Amino acid sequence: MPQISNFSPELKLARSSKKIDRSVAQVFLVTEGLKLEKAARNRVPRSGEDHPVLKGKRGSKLVLHAKDASVIYGLGKAPELTPQEAAEWGENLGNILIAEGFLDVAIHWPISIPHPAIAQNFIKGLGLAGVNFTDLKSAPSSASSEKRTRIQSIQFVCEDEILEEGDLFEVAALIPAIAFARILGELPPAVASPQGIVDLFTESATHHGIEIEVWNEKKIASEKMGLLQAVSQGSAIPPRFLIARTGKKYGESAPTLYLVGKGITFDTGGVNLKTGDWRDLLSMRKDMCGCAAVLGAILAIAESKLPIRVVAVTPMTPNILGSKSVIPGDIVTAYSGKTVEIQNTDAEGRLILADALHYCVKNKADYIIDVATLTGACQIALGSYHSGLFTNQDRFGKLVFRESDFAGEPAWPLPLSRRYGEELKNSLADLTNMGKNRAGGASIGAAFLQNFVAETPWCHLDIAGTHDLGSPASASPIQTAGRMVHTLYRVAKELSVR
Ligand SMILES: [Zn+2]
Repeated sequence: MPQISNFSPELKLARSSKKIDRSVAQVFLVTEGLKLEKAARNRVPRSGEDHPVLKGKRGSKLVLHAKDASVIYGLGKAPELTPQEAAEWGENLGNILIAEGFLDVAIHWPISIPHPAIAQNFIKGLGLAGVNFTDLKSAPSSASSEKRTRIQSIQFVCEDEILEEGDLFEVAALIPAIAFARILGELPPAVASPQGIVDLFTESATHHGIEIEVWNEKKIASEKMGLLQAVSQGSAIPPRFLIARTGKKYGESAPTLYLVGKGITFDTGGVNLKTGDWRDLLSMRKDMCGCAAVLGAILAIAESKLPIRVVAVTPMTPNILGSKSVIPGDIVTAYSGKTVEIQNTDAEGRLILADALHYCVKNKADYIIDVATLTGACQIALGSYHSGLFTNQDRFGKLVFRESDFAGEPAWPLPLSRRYGEELKNSLADLTNMGKNRAGGASIGAAFLQNFVAETPWCHLDIAGTHDLGSPASASPIQTAGRMVHTLYRVAKELSVR
């Protein structure tokens, strides 16, 4: 079984450009309208005086391999840069630096961008550049050659106090956690199978003191998780229900945040077989990116020792067409006792999540967030820049909204009203898993889930359109974004007892 290596560059803060190591590559960031600082200006040869980077044009670069190696990189108009773009342009710059062989760098942050979220996300992107997994090649990279494909150390130079040491520790905890989620999302379905994910997660988790409980197919059956069982029954690959806990020592006074991730390790649609383009089907190995998000998040939360109790819960199974597959029209009893008519076997994510959400309610969660590549409708509605955000409590919804923006993974609120829920009424069973027609599919998926969270403050994040990277970072070897690891971390931090 391959292991996902744990990596984070060494991160250091320098308050003054006088205090930095001059032997490393100096990277000067420029925004439009900001005069390039003298140290950088002096490095530009006469032939480069008209270079667009000197005007701060976004994505432009000037690489100087002189005695003092340096890079000047344009970030565009400062007020237009969002945390999301900062992460993407940071990764873009990281890819450039790696290609140039500059693995130890000092980043001179421009005074025109005084925002901690933007600075943090930029460093995050830099640190994630080059994330890759080569264990499945006939000649995998050795540890030392792998080192040449990642930034090894970053000195962050900002003269005003944009970031504290603690902010850098946070980024250092997030980089390996996001890298873990990214690789997990990209791996083939036979490796990132339900048991494969358990194995890949276990080593990192035990290293962080995270407690793990795994339910196998027998336990899932004896607990009567009927919906998870129904989705899994068509496949010879057995399901798993993984529960990971951290922060028990903070006791009853700390709230308990449950993070639920959809773990469909491959989605054929089941009997409602998917018949689209082959590329769409190939991408269905990423139907477990919600699972990857919650597992990555709990790694970062445990690493940072946030004073909060967090439980990551993930139901995992492929959704395969087989002789034992659940059939449209079958009525199944959920873990909660509700009965569900499965009208469409391709709306399976909501089914396995329903049983996981009920598990959280049964165990008295104070807050629940689920992350899922749930609906094509959400992708149609919001494209690839915003994830869908649904909630049953305004206050909690606003917190998740704000933190997703800070984390560079902005979510956008979509409606969850009683009317959507009414479409799920059924004459034979308590509920069906489909609305009356295609319209409003993202809200109907969320309305289905709402039946299983009782009164617990809950948010549902639909990442169907956002689980891959945005374009400036697209030169990266791995396209899966590790979406929502950072957001879940931020929410846990806000809810923790400080
Ligand atoms: Zn499906």
